[in-house]
Formats: sequence, structure tokens, C-alpha cells
Amino acid sequence: MKTLLLLPGDGIGPEVSGEVERVAEWLARNVGLELAIERAPFGGASYDADGAPLTDATKARALAADAVLMGAVGGPQWAGNARHLRPEAGLLNLRSAMEVFANLRPIYCFEALAGASSLKPEIVSGLDIMIVRELTGGVYFGQPRGIETLPDGSKRGVDTQVYTTAEIERIARVAFELARQRSNKVCSAEKSNVMETGLLWREVVTDLHKREYSDVILTHMLADNAAMQIVHNPKQFDVLVTDNLFGDILSDEAAMCTGSLGMLPSAAIGAPGKPGLYEPIHGSAPDIAGKGVANPLAAILSFAMALRLSLGRIDLGDRLFAAVAAALDAGARTRDIGGTLGTREMGDAVIAALGKSQQP
Ligand code: NAD
Repeated sequence: MKTLLLLPGDGIGPEVSGEVERVAEWLARNVGLELAIERAPFGGASYDADGAPLTDATKARALAADAVLMGAVGGPQWAGNARHLRPEAGLLNLRSAMEVFANLRPIYCFEALAGASSLKPEIVSGLDIMIVRELTGGVYFGQPRGIETLPDGSKRGVDTQVYTTAEIERIARVAFELARQRSNKVCSAEKSNVMETGLLWREVVTDLHKREYSDVILTHMLADNAAMQIVHNPKQFDVLVTDNLFGDILSDEAAMCTGSLGMLPSAAIGAPGKPGLYEPIHGSAPDIAGKGVANPLAAILSFAMALRLSLGRIDLGDRLFAAVAAALDAGARTRDIGGTLGTREMGDAVIAALGKSQQP
């Protein structure tokens, strides 16, 4: 029996993770998925209940689980908290504690949604990119950081971008391994023209490629050019590997190629055998929270990734992915992708498609 720790979190998090639970229950009842689902408060909900966005108890349960699935965290009611007590700090700490250094963000255009993108359908139809973002290093964690008051009363803010050879090598390795299972192409994005970390990044990726992955086609691109290319010709990419900050921005940009943040799952993985952290890319969407209109597909697709990568059920991950595609083909749409279905009705549509599907 595998264990999934569910962290519903804040805003629309509980709504979308509720649909994940229903899907998991369906798989348990109908096709023998053996999965114990545990729950714990996280983010703002955990701060309200226990005074911290991530408690030691929740951290320990996450490390003991096979996979952790998070809804979303954050909201205006906690925006005034001290930085370490903000919901987002809980998420950064959880990622660090779980040592999930590789964030996999598939950017996949479901054929039924090619027309929902802000880009022309011919640009996005058939799009299938894997963005590999370094997740536990870089400027979000580097020291020194802080805001200090200068003698003249003005302030100075500092963040530090820092990467080591080992950190770059392990994320590049993930990208090369994934590429071998896909179209065998890696594009590495950094700013080697203006940043020291960018220079080191390019050097280390190039060396690793030469030593161990010369069968994979490697290209390098400056991150600002990558931002342009993603909207100009996204299908040129197969696996795109980049650092924490650029990956954060490029993956949200690429997200819009496929229509809505509500469609995009992600996985964060570490060393083999360690639990993975699965989360939709979207945030807590305070503007629609509690209204029952959030798209649950990003969360459901995150669960499909967990089935494949951490729960030992590639077959059921594939089946769930296919059920989402079938539900979309049958016309199921939440508001963000041009329809009228609510969160629960979209969950119903996926469960109905699961019922009709054959084991792949
Ligand atoms: P957001 O992703 O929450 O929302 C951006 C826009 O997309 C909103 O208009 C929202 O309604 C829409 N949207 C997002 N998910 C959707 C879904 N599933 N279905 C339909 N529409 C959806 O980003 P934001 O508004 O910048 O941030 C809100 C809060 O979430 C902030 O506190 C932020 O810090 C936090 N946040 C958390 C995460 C996370 O938990 N991983 C990620 C990003 C932002």
C-alpha cells in the first residue's frame, strides 16, 4: 500500500484537491489502486490552525509518504505576515526539506484546446514540451538576502543568485535522461552573457553532455531569447532545462500557450526512491476561491504524474491522462477554458471518461 499526503492548502486548493480525492477513490474502487490518502493543513490554513505555514509534524509526514500532492497556497489575508510565516514560505521550506531539486513542468496542448490558446492554433497544436526547472537553489535561496536601511534612510534590497557544479549537474542529468525517453533534444537556457552563474551553468551542462550524453542533441539559448521563442515557435523545444528563477517565469509563459493555468500540472522530484511533490502550477486564485468554478484538471493531471513517477502505477497515470483528454474531446470545459462547468462537474466528466476507458 502506497501513501499519498494531500495538502489542500488555501483558496481553490481544497476545491481542486477534492476532485483528486474523488478520482483516487474511483481508481481504488474500480481498478484496484491501493493508496492510503492522508491529509494535513498547509500554507495559510496551517498558519491559522497551528501558527506556521509548515509544521514539523507535516514535514515529517511528507518525508514518510510516497508522494505529496498540494492544492495551492497563499492569499491576501496572509500577505502582511512576516516573510517566514507567509504561506509561500511553507512551500519553499517543504521543497527544501524534501530535497526535490527538479521541477518537471509538462507543457502539453490537448488537441481539443488548441483553439483556446492566445496563440494561433497552428503554433500550439501538437505542442509537447517538458520544462525542467531547478527548484532548490538559485536566487530564491541564495545568501545574503534582505533589505537594509542605509545611512541616508533609503533602503537596499539584496538577493543572491548562486549555483554549484553539483547542483547544475544533477538538474542537467534529469533533463538528459528525460530527453532520451522523448525526442532526444535538450535546450539549456541561462544568461551566460551577463551572469557568472549563467557562465558556469553553460560550462557544466556542456561538460556533462560531452562526458555522458553526447547521443542527446544539446543546444544553448539565452533565457530572454527563450522567452521570445516560446511564443514564436514553441514546438522547436523538447526538453528545456533552466534555473529556478528563469524556470519560474518561462514555465508560466509557456503555460499560456496551452490555454489556461488551470490545465498545467507539475512534479518535483529528488533522488530516486524519495517522495515526489506534485502540484498544479496555478496559485490559490483568491478571485474565484469558494465559488466552485476552478478548473481541477491541473491538480488531476498532477495526480496522474504522481501515479507514474512516485506511486508505481504508470498504467493508471496513462489511463487518467487519457481520460482527461477524452473528457475534453467530449466538450467538457470549465470557465477558464471557455465553458460553463463547475469544479465538481469537471471532476464528474473525468470520472465518467475513466469509466468508459479501457486499460491502455
Ligand atoms: P493564481 O495562479 O492564483 O491566479 C492567476 C489567475 O489565474 C487568476 O485570475 C485565477 O482566477 C486564474 N486561475 C488560476 N488557477 C485557476 C484554475 N485552476 N481554474 C481557473 N482559473 C484559475 O496567481 P495569483 O493571483 O498571482 O496568486 C494568488 C495567490 O497564490 C498569491 O498568494 C500567490 O502567492 C499564490 N501562488 C501560489 C502558488 C502555489 O501554491 N504553488 C503559485 C502561484 C501563486
